[in-house]
Amino acid sequence: MDMVAHVCCGETTLLFLSIDHINEDGAEHRRALISQGHGPAFIYYWLRDNDFPAGFQVLCMNCQFGKSHSPERICPHQLRFNQLNGTVLANGK
Ligand SMILES: [Zn+2]
Ligand SMILES: [Zn+2]
Repeated sequence: MDMVAHVCCGETTLLFLSIDHINEDGAEHRRALISQGHGPAFIYYWLRDNDFPAGFQVLCMNCQFGKSHSPERICPHQLRFNQLNGTVLANGK
């Protein structure tokens, strides 16, 4: 898999994507990678090379924003999806 895409809305434009740390420790991890001399985009490649370890998900800015502003802390895309399908998705999986 060469393309970094996220499952919620399928956005693949790297600049629109951001890594969502499910455990909310993203800033620290990002700082650690940057302090090792990696650029800000490195995390996408790091994730890909590490087979997208648990605890991370790729979100685009829309989804990140929607999630952080929704009372359920779930992207509105997924709420809509859940309503359509009557299923609950855990952590975007
Ligand atoms: Zn999205
Ligand atoms: Zn979304």
